[in-house]
Parts: sequence; structure tokens; C-alpha cells
Amino acid sequence: MKKLLKTTILLGILVIAIGLIFLTSCTNKDIKNNNPQWAIVIHGGAGTILKKNLTSETEKLYNQKLNEALEAGATVLENGGTSLDAVTAAITTMEDSPLFNAGKGAVFTAEGKNEMDASIMDGSNINAGAVAGVQTIKNPILAAREVMENSKHVMLQGEGADIFAKEHGLEIEDSSYFFTQRRWESFKKVNKNKFGTVGAVALDIHGNLAAGTSTGGMTNKMKGRVGDSPIIGAGTYADNESCAVSATGHGEYFIRNVVAYDIAALMKYSGVSLKEASNYVIMKKLKDQNAEGGIIALDKAGNFVMTFNTKGMYRGYKNSNGLGEVLIYGDRK
Ligand code: ASP
Repeated sequence: MKKLLKTTILLGILVIAIGLIFLTSCTNKDIKNNNPQWAIVIHGGAGTILKKNLTSETEKLYNQKLNEALEAGATVLENGGTSLDAVTAAITTMEDSPLFNAGKGAVFTAEGKNEMDASIMDGSNINAGAVAGVQTIKNPILAAREVMENSKHVMLQGEGADIFAKEHGLEIEDSSYFFTQRRWESFKKVNKNKFGTVGAVALDIHGNLAAGTSTGGMTNKMKGRVGDSPIIGAGTYADNESCAVSATGHGEYFIRNVVAYDIAALMKYSGVSLKEASNYVIMKKLKDQNAEGGIIALDKAGNFVMTFNTKGMYRGYKNSNGLGEVLIYGDRK
């Protein structure tokens, strides 16, 4: 009788143990499934973007270009490429389009010229590169990358940066390339909807994060004005230990609040989630200062946010779990 009881108890323990092992393995699988192997998030600027102000044609053009940029980055990642290459591919796609305020579609300064800013950061080694106030470089993000990889500096500005890019074989254009009627008109009207910067953050299958941002700055800005986009820590930041961030909005506030680094530092030093850190910085800190703008960000686990305190932000994401979407207005996420 005693023996039977002992055997029953032992059997019971065995069943419970097997059950526990089974449950744990299921949960782990779920976690693995939720953690994408790769991910990319992009933005094409935040601002007063309202459905009533965009024709369905224009909306379609933006959606197509955002999808194209996402696809360019995702293809790199799917094939085992690096997050830096994915960020570069997505951003150059948007720089080559007249729709966004970067590269081809850059806005005009008060003097009717184009002065572009860009930066890129490698989260695996916190290496970074940037250019500011460049006038002839077709793809400023490539120049930023060139500064990071093939110079001993982090940032080059003005003519020196243009010369550096030319000497390093990057494509150079004259001012007529950067002329677009739409930007010229908004410059003359000093349009309220003055943002439109582009940016991307990515996580690759090697576990590395990267971020990049490119812009024409703000319409009617003073000659020589530099915004947050080329400032590492303000408009762009990436560190595998926290997250990758690209910002868009009223640059002066983003510089003063060191926005991209603030989010990364909050995560790193106080252990809050990416979502909590971004909400605090964008929806509370900046909002309290009436500072308009937003960010996209991604952490090492593939969690991402697209947080903005404006009416809308051109944005999109895609990851290896099959998630993907392009959005414009302030409806979701
Ligand atoms: N942040 C950019 C700047 O101030 C503008 C923008 O994001 O549209 O130069």
C-alpha cells in the first residue's frame, strides 16, 4: 500500500515536471517568434499633415515611395546585410524623391539656396559620421557614411564637406538638380508645413542597430543654420546597448533637449522600455515646450516606436515576422 502511494506521488511529480518543461519551451518559442530577426522603421518627416490637405493622388505617391524605401532596406536585411546598409538604402531612396525634404526635394534657405544636413550612426561600435550645410552632394547620407568610414572625423561642414564627397567619388549635382517647384513655392509663401526630413533605423540578423537622418533643414532658414539632423545625439543616435533613433521636427528644440540620446540614455540608465522613454521625451518633455516633432526608434529585441506630437508623420515599418505597414496621419502607433 505504502509502495503504491510512493509510486503514485513519484508519477505525479514526473507528470508535473514534464508539463512544466513543455510549458516553458512553448513560452520560449513564443518569445523567439516575437523577437524578429531583422527590422526596419522609416520616417519621411512630421508636421501638419492632414488628410484634408492631401489629394488621394499625393497620398498614393507618398505611400508608394515609403513602401519603396522600406522594401529597399528590408531587402538588404533579408539577405543578411547590415543595418547600416539597410538604413543607407532606405534613406537614399527617399533622398532621390522630390516628395521629401532631403536630397532632391530639399527646402530653400532664406537666400533661395539648398543647404543639406545628414548623419549616420553604427550601434555596434558607436561610430558616427555627419555632414552639414552641403550644397552639391546628391545623397548627403552617403557623404555622412563616407565621413564615418573614411575620415578621422565625425562631422564635416560646408564647402569642405562638398569637396570631401567629390574627392571620394560621390555623385555631385549642381543647384538646378535640387530645384523643385513645390519647395520654391513653399519657400516664397513661408509655408507652415515646413518639415519633411527623412530617417531610418534598422536591426540586422547579426544583432546590430543603426540609425540615419537626412534633411534640407527648415524652409527659409538662415544661411549657415544647422539643425538637429546632423548632430549625433540630437537627431540621430544608435547604440546596441539601448536603441537606434532618428528624429524629425523643430531642430532647435531637438538640439537643446538632445532628444535621440535622451531616449537612449533613459533606457540605458533607468531601465525603462523604449516606449516609455519615447513617450516621456516626445509627448511630455517636448510638448511642454511646445516643440513639434517626432521620432522613430528600434531596440535590440526588435521593439519599435513611431512617436510624434504633430498631426501626422510619414512613416512605416517592416520586420522578419511579416509585420509591415505604411502610415501618414495621426491615427495609430
Ligand atoms: N529637424 C529638421 C531641422 O530642424 C527639420 C525636419 O525634421 O523637418 O533641420
